[in-house]
Amino acid sequence: MDDAEQKMRFIYGIRSKGVTDARVLAAMEAIDRGAFVRGLFAERSYEDMPLPIGCGQTISQPSVVGLMTQALELGPRDKVLEIGTGSGYQAAVLSRIARRVYTVERHRRLIQEARQVFEKLGLVNIIAVHGDGSRGLPEQSPFDRIIVTAAAEDPPGPLLAQLRIGGIMVVPVGQSDTVQSLIRVRRTETGFEYDELRAVRFVPLVEGLGKE
Ligand code: SAH
Repeated sequence: MDDAEQKMRFIYGIRSKGVTDARVLAAMEAIDRGAFVRGLFAERSYEDMPLPIGCGQTISQPSVVGLMTQALELGPRDKVLEIGTGSGYQAAVLSRIARRVYTVERHRRLIQEARQVFEKLGLVNIIAVHGDGSRGLPEQSPFDRIIVTAAAEDPPGPLLAQLRIGGIMVVPVGQSDTVQSLIRVRRTETGFEYDELRAVRFVPLVEGLGKE
């Protein structure tokens, strides 16, 4: 299979899983997932599966990246916060649609590697921060959109507080190591509205900084 055919199959596969938003599909066509996968697993970059990325973490399944991005209803003026940079792939996809993306990761090694890829791909509107994302990024708040790519038992309070009125947050909720629910939260003038999107499986959101 040549590169073009592999890419076409990749996008076709994502579409068939329910990603229909043209902006999301264009962003995922533009960002090469292969740039975010190292070593042994690189050749599986265009398969619809999560893959190991180091520090015991994984790059998410592409169709899930697409569905979460779509659920955010992202626009070109949005300032987005991502918790759980991991490989940086999700942040890169967001950065093609949004004005600016802040992404926070607790493992220093992962944030350093992600920064290198952002630089290589010329993605200048991503600010990658080493820190504990369960506290959010209060100094840059409020955010138009927040996406959490690690599972929490409940939507973290500090993140809800940093969401702009009218804003949307997407977060996997549930106990780690079981099936979690992907939840969409909309902040209204008077409170928060929740809807449940689908079952997902993410690594847990862990408080504090990582060892590496
Ligand atoms: N979005 C990533 C995949 C996320 S895997 C991608 O596109 O590749 C989940 C990531 O969340 C892991 O890298 C993990 O280290 C990170 N994480 C877990 N708890 C965290 C926290 N409290 N703050 C920041 N990052 C966290």
